[in-house]
Amino acid sequence: PLVLGIETSCDETGVGIVRGHTLLADAIASSVDTHARFGGVVPEIASRAHLEAMVPTIDRALEQAGVAATDLDGIAVTAGPGLAGALLVGVSAAKAYAYALGKPLYGVNHLASHICVDQLEHGALPEPTMALLVSGGHSSLLLAPDITADVRPLGSTIDDAAGEAFDKVARVLNLGFPGGPVIDKYAKEGDPAAIAFPRGLTGPRDAPYDFSFSGLKTAVARWIEAKRNAGEEVPVAHVAASFQEAVTDVLTRKALRACRDEGVDHLMIGGGVAANSRLRAMAEERCADAGITLRVPRPKLCTDNGAMVAALGAEMVARNRAASAWDLPADSSLPVTEPHVPDPSAA
Ligand code: ATP
Ligand code: MG
Ligand code: FE
Repeated sequence: PLVLGIETSCDETGVGIVRGHTLLADAIASSVDTHARFGGVVPEIASRAHLEAMVPTIDRALEQAGVAATDLDGIAVTAGPGLAGALLVGVSAAKAYAYALGKPLYGVNHLASHICVDQLEHGALPEPTMALLVSGGHSSLLLAPDITADVRPLGSTIDDAAGEAFDKVARVLNLGFPGGPVIDKYAKEGDPAAIAFPRGLTGPRDAPYDFSFSGLKTAVARWIEAKRNAGEEVPVAHVAASFQEAVTDVLTRKALRACRDEGVDHLMIGGGVAANSRLRAMAEERCADAGITLRVPRPKLCTDNGAMVAALGAEMVARNRAASAWDLPADSSLPVTEPHVPDPSAA
């Protein structure tokens, strides 16, 4: 199926077009530079930016794909979770295009999309799929027997998300926003073993699949503060590398344990933090040692984009899932257990 997907859950206006598992277009307009000087995403600014970028980004995607809107089999849109006002712009645009074109509308889950996007990279997802979802707002281990209908959380962060920890540590280091890419860059020049930062929730009695990054974040902040108070220079590269090592060590350890416990022979990693070079390298190494096949999309498909929404929408069409109603709501806290929002009257 030929599907157009619209993503506006945060600060990226993304429009992607796919045919089944084939990526045809991935157009993005980001308002991240506008938010950078506030040190985080400002919801009202994000909504306004989506509104301005929406139609031009849709046009750009259609042009890139070389398809006519009338040939689409459906229009998919992120219905949640995310910023309410930002989601609303995408949902309204998707409704308008779908209604005007006479195409079915599919409101899909942003988190399930972060997983489903890997079909564009590595083909059909195995069933069940074991997924480590690590992004700005979420960090979870998920087991999905069917990405369009059945997604089960094995464990999640009990405090900060992994991406949030990257952003906060970058802030303490005065490296700007968003923190992930810049920490990744500095870490390349540093020694990951320079500072022994804590590995949260890895004790024998801790929940095996839950994460905690708030203690790590605080430990890094205290370490930096002590250096500054002593009038010493902060070794930014060493801090970045050691912090990043602690995060990726915990993430990969727990993900591999989940694969082993559940008897799953592959691991999918998705979400913005999956773009991290050290996480990718460590996962590759540890998966190879454990005989597990690693599936991680290219970095550009890990961070927010429209192609991931189109990928999940195409899967909904392929599996004859019910379309959404014309009064599809934007749901800022749509749970990961609901991969799409079907028309309630279609049940
Ligand atoms: P969610 O998907 O939970 O709603 P989001 O959509 O805001 O959150 P994503 O775009 O999926 O998040 O990911 C953004 C996060 O990924 C940010 O916290 C950012 O710092 C982090 N990130 C991006 N690139 C990297 C990288 N190379 N290394 C580490 N973190 C990264
Ligand atoms: Mg973003
Ligand atoms: Fe995301």
